[in-house]
Order: sequence, then structure tokens, then C-alpha cells
Amino acid sequence: MANLDEPLRKVLGDKTAKVLAKGLDLHTVGDLLHHYPRRYAHRGELTPLSGLQDGEHVTVMAEVVKVQGRTLTRSPGYVLEITVTDGTGELKLSFFGRKGSYIPERDLSPGTRGLFAGKISTYRPRSGREQRQLTHPQYKVVAARSAEQAAQEWADEIIPIYPSTKGLDIETIGKSVGMVLDQLELPADPVPAPLLTRRGLIPLAEAYEGIHRPKTWDELSRARKRLKWDEAFVLQVALAQRRRAAAALPAKPRPPVVGGIGSEFEARLPFDLTKGQREVGDEIAADLSLAHPMHRLLQGDVGAGKTVVALRAMLQVVDGGGQAALLAPTEVLAQQHFRSITGMLGDLGQAGQIGGADNATRVTLLTGSLGAKARKAALLDAASGTAGIVVGTHALLQDNVQFADLGLVVVDEQHRFGVEQRDALREKVSGGRPHVLVMTATPIPRTVAMTVFGDLETSVLGQLPAGRSEIGTHVVPPERPAFLARTWERIREEAAQGRQIYIVCPRIGEQEGDEGDAAPAGEEGRRSPLGIMELLPMLEDELLSGLRIGVLHGKLHPDEKDAVMRRFTDGDLDVLLATTVIEVGVDVPNATVMVIMDADRFGVSQLHQLRGRVGRGSLHGLCLLVTDAEPGSKARERLDAVASTTDGFKLSRLDLEQRREGDVLGATQAGRSSSLRLLTLQRDEDVIKDAREEATALVDQDPGLDDHPGLAAELATLLDEERAEYLEKT
Ligand code: ADP
Ligand code: MG
Repeated sequence: MANLDEPLRKVLGDKTAKVLAKGLDLHTVGDLLHHYPRRYAHRGELTPLSGLQDGEHVTVMAEVVKVQGRTLTRSPGYVLEITVTDGTGELKLSFFGRKGSYIPERDLSPGTRGLFAGKISTYRPRSGREQRQLTHPQYKVVAARSAEQAAQEWADEIIPIYPSTKGLDIETIGKSVGMVLDQLELPADPVPAPLLTRRGLIPLAEAYEGIHRPKTWDELSRARKRLKWDEAFVLQVALAQRRRAAAALPAKPRPPVVGGIGSEFEARLPFDLTKGQREVGDEIAADLSLAHPMHRLLQGDVGAGKTVVALRAMLQVVDGGGQAALLAPTEVLAQQHFRSITGMLGDLGQAGQIGGADNATRVTLLTGSLGAKARKAALLDAASGTAGIVVGTHALLQDNVQFADLGLVVVDEQHRFGVEQRDALREKVSGGRPHVLVMTATPIPRTVAMTVFGDLETSVLGQLPAGRSEIGTHVVPPERPAFLARTWERIREEAAQGRQIYIVCPRIGEQEGDEGDAAPAGEEGRRSPLGIMELLPMLEDELLSGLRIGVLHGKLHPDEKDAVMRRFTDGDLDVLLATTVIEVGVDVPNATVMVIMDADRFGVSQLHQLRGRVGRGSLHGLCLLVTDAEPGSKARERLDAVASTTDGFKLSRLDLEQRREGDVLGATQAGRSSSLRLLTLQRDEDVIKDAREEATALVDQDPGLDDHPGLAAELATLLDEERAEYLEKT
């Protein structure tokens, strides 16, 4: 009998265990059981052969149509060429050997069906079209067509196909899984029986059997349902526990103060808050008044006005005698926040300076690139409590940064930060936890909100401030060269009217390995994307000669970045030529045009973010997506989608559909994805929602999982995996 922790060596023997460990990183019975088939084939069904890609590892079901052996002319040897078909297309299999040596002539005769696994290569006969082939594929005869079984039964049999891996015999996994299943001894089901009944789920043992050795498609789908549920459920239990634990922690309450700096600031705001800003503001104000830490995620599309909401919260904390930290993902954004917050506060932010208001506080900028002296001053401001608001980048997370009384952490543009970073700042408060407000402009689909951000409460700023103008978006395609000429003309017209323009390229382009998290080149044979240093001379000498052009990218010294941004903000530059460093948060209301070169190299959400840099004031925004992607291509479809709507939520769903799970969860959060084998954030919203409900109820009833030891064990495994992956990354 084998339980889940049993080493595979004990069940399968050393040799097979070694192969599985080396090839697939599978070590225990549990590992192997969770290595699910990638897909299933009917015996009666053949794999379509037309879509096979060069270099791809495949396992296909096909029927032998022709067997031909020939002696090689140049070298001593013999080649057996077998042609298989899916009924329409063909694939060639080649086996080389010496005549008389073992070559599968006898196994594979015309009419035989089999599974064939190997790496696809392309073969060009001297005459004729190129052909796909497998050289020395592994094979498994499934059955000859003449088998005497009842035709229907034979055709209905389900054959699991495991991901093919180099160096692994085609039958190894299936056979090993079979042995494991035959000896399997499972502990008590981790999911409570009443829950299983309520949700119509089958027992776990049946589910493992059904996913690896299904006899019917129904059985398979019940198995998948159960195993998928478990993935969602365990994750949600972890999150429910995290929420509960966080809610139980102490925090210093910071209720609003009448007549404090907060209300003074409000009285001076040059605009009315939107309804959404007021409602979310009230929610946050109430959270901050409690003796437990706030954990709130604020979502609001690009330009929704999240900064003001955050600033009001920060001032409430300052009024309560505490400090607030604002964490920005980039230096450019941190600098901008610093400028705009000091600007908005005016004399309210000039404590200790001539002209500072009586109840003023101080705003301090702390980034990794400060000179030693400035850095020392900033650290002192934070540690002494002189600074009510500290704005910074990840430099804020370092150990030597101390706060006198950190009451609130605001994380801007969270999609760039991982959970661990949120935690690092929380640690900076002794004897309690700060309140935490996380903001993101990348609208997060509900499923992601419920998983990656599942330990946070959510607020949404659903509407943009009134008077916000429209952004028109157009694709500038290769088949309409006149559009590109018009683009440069349009830029000149805007500049002549005193407006400003962004031009974004995917790369810097002066050296190798430069920045640009634009989608990588992808398909082979494409030219490398345009760099700003390549475009700059063209703009200066010809296309936009006479305009004042500034350059901004991540490799510049931070002081230079700051200086360029300032000149652009002050209107001393007409054009800002930049990489994606301006992707999030940059706010210059006088900028009206955004031109994105090689736009197809960016992701949908990224384009939406970039576009959000214009149309921020009362002036109409124009976004031009320059591309040489052909009409009808996938890339063009994406660009058309971006051009067709400014609804960030719609676009983020589209984006989600086009990305792989690990990408969705983000590099720092990819650890989660290893535990998600069947569950997808794209399609399983209902499962996630139900699991969340059940998990919350269960944890409310049994916070320590004392009555659910099986579940507690599963959870421990999940958290271990996560921790291990996190450690690997640091
Ligand atoms: P985001 O949500 O993308 O971070 P910002 O906070 O940068 O947006 O706000 C975008 C712009 O809108 C800023 O210039 C800000 O001053 C302005 N703004 C914010 N709230 C309002 C409002 N209620 N009415 C008018 N303008 C506003
Ligand atoms: Mg912002």
C-alpha cells in the first residue's frame, strides 16, 4: 500500500523512479498522482496533423498507411520510412538502423493505429513539398483496425495522453500511474463530507482514478470537477485564514479629526470629488478608525483619480499623529507623486519652512538613487516623524528605513509588486500593523481579485471625473503609409497649439539587453523593435525638426529623469520620447497625443495604461498605434480591440484570455500557479466563487482547522511549496 508521501522508488523501483525524478521532477506518489494527462484521445479519433509546429514535442494518434524500407546509398545503413495519417494530412516517421537490427517493421503495418511521440522536424525531399517528420519516435500500438472487439466499444475507449518529455518512454507514465493507483492508500478525505454532498463532488480516490483511467467521459468530467474544486478550495481556505488573522491584529485607530489638515486640504481642492471618490473615501475613513488594520484594494481605471483618495487617507493618518508611506513602482512615478503631492498641499506640506501653515506636515522623497546626504536627511525625516508623508520606491522596503509611527502604507500600481513586498512594509510597525491601501489601475478581473488579492477587501472607483475628455485611438497600419505621414504632421499641429506629445518605443535601442518590458519579439525572423535612440535622430533631423524633444528611459540617472519630467511638466518640451517608464501614473494634463511605435509589441493592458497618459485634462486625447502587423493577424486583432474601447475592464479580460496563468499571477506570484493544475483564472470564476464561500464559512467556524486535520495537512503542503518558491527567488 502506498500513501501520498511514499517515495516513488518504493513503488516503482529505482530505475523508473530515477527517470521520473530527472525528467519530470516527480518524487512521491502524490507528485505522480498530480501529474495529470494533458489531454485524452478516443481510440476512434485521430490527432489532426496539419497544425504541428517545427520543434514541438508531440504525441499523436495516427494510422499507418505506408511502410517502406530502403538501403542508404552513401553510408552503410537502412532506413524504415513509415507514413501515418489522420485521414487527411500525413506525417513521416523515420527509423534508422542496420538491416537486420530491430526496426519496428513488424509492429507497424498499414492499418495499425498507434500513439507516436517525438519532436517534429521539417524534411525537404529533393523534389516536392516540405514535410513534417518524427525521427525515431516512440510508439505504442493502440490496436489494429481489424481487432475483433465490438467496434463501438473499441472506438469509445479513452486514452490519456501525458505531456511528452524527452527521454521518457511513451508508456512509462501511464504504467507508473497505474501501479500507483492500484496500491494507493488515501487518508481521510480533506474536504468535509457534507460539503462534498452539497456541491455534488465525488470522493478523492474516485477522482484520481477518473482523471488517470477514465472509462467514460462522464467519469472524467466528474473527476476534473472534484480535483479542480480542491485546488480552488485549499487556496481559498489559505486566504480566508490570512484575512481572519489580519483582521484580528491590533492597529492604532486614526479617526478623522475635525479641523485638521485633512479638512483644510479638502476645502482647498480645486475640483469637486466624484461620487465614487467620496464613497470610497468614506469606506477608507471608517476602516482607518478601527483598531484593526485596513487591507483594502482600490481599483480604478486609468485617470479615475485614485491619488486624491489616497492623499485624503494619508492626511487622516497624519491628523491622527501618524505617518503614511506611499510606495510607487518606478522612480519616475515616485518623483511625480512627490511633486504633485507637495504641489497639492502647498503650505500644508511645508512644516518647518518659512510660509508653512500652522498645522503643516512634511513630505519626503526616498528613492534608491538619492545622494548620501539627501538620503540621510530623508531617513532622518522618516525616523524622527518629521515627515508625515514619505514617498518612495522599493527603497522604502529596506531594513534601515525606520518610521517613528507608520500608520498607513499606500501601494500604488500594485500589479508591479508582489505580496511579499506588501508584507515587508507591514513589518515596519512594532506592536501592531499599519493600515494598508493597495491601488491598481490595471482593472483586475474578479477571479484574480479573489485569488492573488484574495486577502484584501475591494473598492472600485467606477467612474472618471466629470469633464474628462475622450481619447480617440487609431491604428496606423502598414498598408496605409499616408497615415504615418499624417501622424508626424498631426504632432506638429498639436505642438503649434502649445500641446504636448508622448512618443513611446519598445526599447532604448543603444545597447544590448536594454529595458522594455514590452512583449518580446516572439515569432522568429521579425526585426527587433524600434528603439528610442534609433528614432531620435530621425525625429530631430527630419520628421519633427524644430520641436523640443526630451528623452526618458530607465537607464538615465534619476536626477536626469526628474529633470526631463519636470521640463515636460512645465511645458519646456513639446515631445517626450520614452520607453514604458511612463507607463503608469504619469500625469501631465496638457499632453494630448500619445504615439506608440511598434505597438504590437506591447500587451493590451500596457497599451491601455500608456494611452491613459493623454486626455487627462479638458483636452481631447489622441492615441496612435503604429504597427507593421498585417491585417487579420493576431497582433492586429489586439490593436483593433484596444482602439475599439476605452473600457479597461473589457480589455483586461481580453488580456487575461491571451496570457498564460503564470503571467497573470505575475513573476513574484507564480508560486501560486504551481498548485493550480486544472483551475484556470480565465474560465473558472464560478468554482472560485463557490470555493471562496465555503472556505470563508469553514474558517469562520473552525479557524485553526482543528476539526479538519486532512485539510490542515493539504494547506501546509501548499504553503510550503509557496514558501520554497519564494525562497528560491530571493
Ligand atoms: P489615477 O487614478 O490614474 O491615478 P490620478 O489620481 O493621477 O488618476 O488623477 C488623474 C487626474 O485627474 C489628476 O490630474 C487629478 O488631479 C485629476 N482629478 C482627480 N479627481 C478629480 C475630480 N474629482 N475632478 C476633476 N479632476 C480630478
Ligand atoms: Mg495613479
